[in-house]
Amino acid sequence: MPTQSAETIGLLQDLIKIESINPSLSPQGSGEQGVAKFLEGFCKERNLAYGIQEVADGRSNFLTWVPGKEPDRRILFIAHMDTVPIDRWESDPFSGEQRDGRIYGRGSCDTKGSLAAMLIALSSLGERQPRATVVLAASIDEEYRKLGARAIADSGVTYEGAVVGEPTELELVVAHMGSVRWQIEVQGVPAHTSKPHLGVNAITGMAKVVLALDEHHRSLVSRAQHPLVGSAQLTVSLIEGGLELTTVPPVCRIWVDRRLIPGEQPQDALAEVESILEGLRQGEDKINVRSLLPALEDPPPISSESSRIAAVAAAACAHVAGTGEQKGATGGSDANQLSLAGIPCVIIGPGRTAQAHTNNEFVEIAQLIKAAELYQKIMLTY
Ligand SMILES: [Zn+2]
Repeated sequence: MPTQSAETIGLLQDLIKIESINPSLSPQGSGEQGVAKFLEGFCKERNLAYGIQEVADGRSNFLTWVPGKEPDRRILFIAHMDTVPIDRWESDPFSGEQRDGRIYGRGSCDTKGSLAAMLIALSSLGERQPRATVVLAASIDEEYRKLGARAIADSGVTYEGAVVGEPTELELVVAHMGSVRWQIEVQGVPAHTSKPHLGVNAITGMAKVVLALDEHHRSLVSRAQHPLVGSAQLTVSLIEGGLELTTVPPVCRIWVDRRLIPGEQPQDALAEVESILEGLRQGEDKINVRSLLPALEDPPPISSESSRIAAVAAAACAHVAGTGEQKGATGGSDANQLSLAGIPCVIIGPGRTAQAHTNNEFVEIAQLIKAAELYQKIMLTY
């Protein structure tokens, strides 16, 4: 029998070797089904109960669980199976290579490390039955629309709390941002560029929209800040426009990424921008601008600061690793969607956020092993 540490490392390496790039982010991405299939084999071998929740386009969440002494009380452990695409890696991103006390590979910290640690924690409970039923979900699509977490939130199964595996260096995150992302379009009128006065230049119009949005961003930053998360943000992150070199551009589009702090709602952020656009439509330039909706909406997680799951996780940290001090983070996670079902979430996992989505992503083995211990402590003490 391999030791628990060797088992966790081996499992993470197996998961990294299965490419699971989110197909919405890269057409070459295989999606999560290879990982789900592997998990099915893992659970069969260990006699763990499991189920598959079809979500969309043949993409399914994978769930496994251990019933508690009070089976109707449930807590959720969740880590996502999909990864972002790969770019210029120095070595094979799917090797799971072990070097210098680290495991390298796409998804090693975001979030196959958390997933491996949660699985080992659950599958090694043995005779020790937890009080509440522990459900472990390996979700799809966290890196794009969070469809997997959304399906869990909508499933009608209730959870008292959730532990979301994302790289936090085993620090306890109880608050993070949400987001709302959408496109804005300016329509112009095409004309030959030798007679530009006969047309309306959509790029020039959009330039004014972008400047107005930048001013809005600065006003957001100067608003009251959230103590753990900081200030709201707005970034114009993509732009495309024009037809060809000698035509006054008839159309220009941008993507807006608005980061929401706890307490803000997507529709309010959209409404604020809408009133700016209305001003530009009515202003002296009469810019023909509109939002292309629906937006991608990810509300900020509900507050978990005084939840039982946060208290239990803090106590587990005090025993095992991390400070257990309540912290905030900026990025999103499956917690955004779980909040729609009113589930208080804590986010905690091995690896550094700075490593996620980068070339040569890795996770420290010492943290990975501690994570399994920490998750198991939470499972047994909740
Ligand atoms: Zn990520």
